[in-house]
Amino acid sequence: MHKIIQHRVKCIGCNACVEAAPQRWGVSRLDGKSVLVGAKEKKGIFTVNIPDWELDENKRAQTNCPVHIIEIIAL
Ligand code: SF4
Repeated sequence: MHKIIQHRVKCIGCNACVEAAPQRWGVSRLDGKSVLVGAKEKKGIFTVNIPDWELDENKRAQTNCPVHIIEIIAL
């Protein structure tokens, strides 16, 4: 299992994460930033644990994020 961490405040709403992993990422109609589906928020940082089958597509999201605000760590 892995954990995704998103430093959402710096998100520019470019949609790259949504294109890479559409089941895990969406875009908020309220502020235009991306939403990490199923995540919990603490001090503006969003985290969620993902199963292994989601890892590759979310690694692509991490790689493609132009402002480098997506982290993935092994649990
Ligand atoms: S790729 Fe990064 S900057 Fe672009 S919407 Fe996703 S989290 Fe935000």
